[in-house]
Amino acid sequence: MLDFSYHMPVKIIWGQQIIVKEGANLKRFGRKAAIVTGKTSAAKSGALADIVAVCGKNGHSFQVFNSVKNDPPTGNVIDIALEINQFKPDFLIAIGGGSVLDAAKVIAILLTNGISLDTIWQSPKNKPLPLVVVPTTAGTGSEVTPYAVLTDSVSETKKSVATELIYPKLAFLDSSYTDSMPIDVTVNTAIDALSHLLEGFFAKRANNMSDIYAIEGMKLLAKAMPSLSKGEFTANCREYLLAGSLFGGLTIAKTGTTLVHALGYSLTYFHELAHGKANGLLLGAYLDYINKSLPQKVMLAVNTLGFAELSGLQTFLSELYTVKLDLTTREIALYVEKALRTSNIENTPGQMSGYVLADILERSVN
Ligand code: NAP
Ligand code: FE
Repeated sequence: MLDFSYHMPVKIIWGQQIIVKEGANLKRFGRKAAIVTGKTSAAKSGALADIVAVCGKNGHSFQVFNSVKNDPPTGNVIDIALEINQFKPDFLIAIGGGSVLDAAKVIAILLTNGISLDTIWQSPKNKPLPLVVVPTTAGTGSEVTPYAVLTDSVSETKKSVATELIYPKLAFLDSSYTDSMPIDVTVNTAIDALSHLLEGFFAKRANNMSDIYAIEGMKLLAKAMPSLSKGEFTANCREYLLAGSLFGGLTIAKTGTTLVHALGYSLTYFHELAHGKANGLLLGAYLDYINKSLPQKVMLAVNTLGFAELSGLQTFLSELYTVKLDLTTREIALYVEKALRTSNIENTPGQMSGYVLADILERSVN
């Protein structure tokens, strides 16, 4: 049976110098803008200067809040929401990587639903403030997803807020803002995009529409894969990476993610591995597992990414990352238990079990 059900409410505006050209689009969100960023990347990327110039031209009053941490902890998000609340903005503009975009999504909810830890994990009663996003990394696709991932010290893991209310209203996508990413951030974020495309393509919640996005995203990413190994990135390559990331987001907006993200969260929480790197370490063994139930789909993905055999893609990944964590049996059991509690596992095809997860984890990092 065919299934093309799909929902995407984000207005995407794509191109070089697009904020300068299309900045008038901000006018409809009100007069006062809170600009949410991390420590330095919004300025380094050039996007902050462009947003500030456009806000001036449009007559918006604005204030910059630049304290979002990587893999934002819930407390960090609450603190920033309290600060922004004093300013009483009409809308938010997030400039940064997935960490900043996700923090801003949750802040937008907190500002209209009450600022507390409980609010974060409840379904929001009131509409959040409108959110405009400017990604400066090419990986999460958060600009088009209804998810925000936060670090929760209570459950000692990363947890998602998932609601259609937190889709951004508008995303400005200009790949020149990703030029300033160091090589490691470029590689890690690209591999996160790859993970979204693969996990989304194989997920139980995939349908004909998400498959179109996944395949197109793999074609786009394939053009940039050789650069990931070399660590050299042309302007064209940056554009392909941003497009691959966008298509990863368009895919998982429908499908969600699966076991790779579920296990990867523990590698980030307990071992401080960057999100994309954590996923990249797990992808090789995950693909062997998926190949048992969906061999034709795996071969289609492998070929679309520019490899003749699955082993070619696995070698590409293992050459990017050589991390050994030597996890103890106890650590493996803990991370597996945490992954099993997530909805990602139900969304993973095949015969899922704690044993399978432990095997994938052990083969990936020990
Ligand atoms: P990130 O954590 O947002 O950023 C990583 C680092 O890169 C930060 O130190 C940041 O600096 C720096 N950076 C960002 N853009 C830069 C630029 N243009 N030039 C120089 N440095 C730059 O990394 P990310 O991979 O984009 O986001 C990861 C987060 O997104 C994780 O929490 C992950 O779980 C989440 N995620 C969300 C979704 C979703 O659908 N919502 C999907 C996948 C992953 P600053 O600190 O100065 O900003
Ligand atoms: Fe991700």
